[in-house]
Amino acid sequence: MTILVTGGAGYIGSHAVRALQRAGLPVLVLDNLVYGHRAIVEQVLQAPLVIGQLGDRDLLESVLRGERSASPIQAVLHFAAYAYVGESVVDPAKYYRNNLGDTLTLLEALVAEGRRRGSPVPIVFSSTCATYGVPEQVPILETTPQHPINPYGHSKRMVEQLLHDFGAAYGLPSVIFRYFNAAGADPAGDLGEDHDPETHLIPLALDAITGRLPCLRIFGDDYPTADGTCIRDYIHVSDLADAHLLGLRRVEAEARRLADGGDPATVKPAIFNLGNGKGYSVREVIQAAEAVTGRPVPTLVAPRRPGDPPVLLAAAAAAQRELGWRPRFPELEVILAHAWAWHQRRHPQLP
Ligand code: UDP
Repeated sequence: MTILVTGGAGYIGSHAVRALQRAGLPVLVLDNLVYGHRAIVEQVLQAPLVIGQLGDRDLLESVLRGERSASPIQAVLHFAAYAYVGESVVDPAKYYRNNLGDTLTLLEALVAEGRRRGSPVPIVFSSTCATYGVPEQVPILETTPQHPINPYGHSKRMVEQLLHDFGAAYGLPSVIFRYFNAAGADPAGDLGEDHDPETHLIPLALDAITGRLPCLRIFGDDYPTADGTCIRDYIHVSDLADAHLLGLRRVEAEARRLADGGDPATVKPAIFNLGNGKGYSVREVIQAAEAVTGRPVPTLVAPRRPGDPPVLLAAAAAAQRELGWRPRFPELEVILAHAWAWHQRRHPQLP
């Protein structure tokens, strides 16, 4: 049976495809390639790719039945989403249509396919710490109230609600992962972050080092933190990918329980923060980037970026306790070293 990876041509999805392949699991990628990279799937990962829209119900049905793969789809890792916070504010329709509307179509198709075969097709969903908004407490627990402050965060929060309701009503098993700041690159050096436009701190710091950017703007140095810059919890993308294998096992066990006659009324999403539980300020990330690369990061202090909470930090013990997740690369220096190796490979012409 095959694992469907929606958004497998994107940053986190492509690393998850690699983790599945390393575990010997057959994979099918579905991606609309709006932000994803065809070459990463076809050439680097050499995984089968269906180019299409998640909202295309006919396409989804044929994919789930196994008409595009050697075997039917056993479970779904659902990464496909637009993830630019700023864009979501100026074009919320794009975010609700894609992240929410198309995911609703996917969930309906999963329920229908599960009924057809008499056993559920479970899902692991990529959510985000952006669903917490400006948190009432840090470290952030899974039970910390969620108050998103932009359409991107709302769209993810709403899908979480769908998963609650689809679990209770239709017995759809799910795991929800709330990622903190995904960073780094596969240690092999051939997969990594490749956003266009790029908005994230670490790749932009590396761009400033190599001169692709004249300098890195520090968005605010007057926050109520020790050095005045925002604190985030950076988590290695390969560690996120590994968590998905464990999440997959969890939803598959739940699907088997239901197929064996378990009570569908008791189905609810299992929710896990994914972070290291250790925070670094923007200035600390810059210092670490300088130490790892041996080169200076030219910087400029700029105004605060709207919607940036001062501190986001995960309490991630639940994933460790309940799934047995152990991040392999928790050190910021290692995350940066892998990001730097990928950055140099991607831009070989730069100094
Ligand atoms: N940041 C910054 N300059 C940049 C990009 C980001 O100072 O060019 C800061 C941003 O304000 C936040 C942190 O770096 O405090 C991480 O931002 P990123 O966009 O990487 O991730 P986010 O926290 O928004 O998910």
